[in-house]
Amino acid sequence: MAETGRAWVFTGAGQPFEPREFPLPEAEPGAILVRVSVATICGSDLHGWHGRTPRSGPTIMGHEMTGRVHRLGAGVASDALGAPLREGDRIVYSYFVACGRCEACRAGDRHHCTERRIGAGRARSDRPPHFTGAYAEYYYLRPGAYVLRAPEVLDDFVVAPLNCALAQVIYGFHQAGLEAGDAVVVQGAGGLGLYATAVARERGARTIVVLDRVPERLALAREFGADHALDIDAAGAEGVAAQVRELTGGGGHVVLELTGRPEAIAAGLAMTRAEGRYVLIGNITAGVTIPFDPSWVVHQNRRVIGVGGYQAWALRRGLELLARARDRYPWKGILSHRYPLAEINQAFADADCGRAIRAALVAG
Ligand SMILES: [Zn+2]
Ligand SMILES: [Zn+2]
Repeated sequence: MAETGRAWVFTGAGQPFEPREFPLPEAEPGAILVRVSVATICGSDLHGWHGRTPRSGPTIMGHEMTGRVHRLGAGVASDALGAPLREGDRIVYSYFVACGRCEACRAGDRHHCTERRIGAGRARSDRPPHFTGAYAEYYYLRPGAYVLRAPEVLDDFVVAPLNCALAQVIYGFHQAGLEAGDAVVVQGAGGLGLYATAVARERGARTIVVLDRVPERLALAREFGADHALDIDAAGAEGVAAQVRELTGGGGHVVLELTGRPEAIAAGLAMTRAEGRYVLIGNITAGVTIPFDPSWVVHQNRRVIGVGGYQAWALRRGLELLARARDRYPWKGILSHRYPLAEINQAFADADCGRAIRAALVAG
């Protein structure tokens, strides 16, 4: 009898995930069948579950994960840096696979591939190779993926959110041109915000101010290197902006929006200094509009930068950071809640109401 694996399938907005059993696919040349160990729930998975980023049919959602090589397709002998790959090795990989040949891919922008960009958690799962997302026992990594072997010294719970959350903020700071000595403001102390705080610290930021309204998240932000962790409800929107400008000497050189809330944008722009860069990462839902005063951007040369996806090197830098700074920050605290994969519906409920900073699903 053919080997099978379990998956929890998204069938419609707000519906419970349903367990399904699928036959394991053969790994075609260049592909890897991964035995998933830990998957996490990203803000974009919550948006997807609510139907704000539509799927075209039954889908195994989830894109942040790690696991071990279960089967290697023909021709896969090493990772992207040339380290040998064998069955049983733990790996991390970009959550999107690209053609490698189109103009965008050749420029290093595989996340903008115009020919074959396939994101984990997006494709239909009712036809082979079935295992197209993280909320399953297996994940089918298509040929052309950017894959790195993860050092054994790092825990599954530390590397699982790397391929979206951490790589994304590393690339965001790159796009914003963060320099040592800059003042950094982070809106939102969820997973992305905590990673951003540590990355800013490691890159020599002078002052780091983190904003949230959940006391536990603010406390954790301090452990991740925040100089100031402010409750946005304590002083009102105007009061917080004034406080941030005072603490940073005029506003952040780099301000990151990591809340996913449209109403955070006006507040974030107000905290961005002249010549500063405002980086939008969290607001991924299409069709949302906000009131906006363009003169605030124009007169003092502020820049607004959107960041969705990342160049492959950001994944490598993230892995190196986790290894190098593994004892400096409480990385495992980002995955505040852990659930067996079969309890995915409880995990989504807890992540959705904000009880969990980031929830981990353990496949075994
Ligand atoms: Zn391409
Ligand atoms: Zn994500």
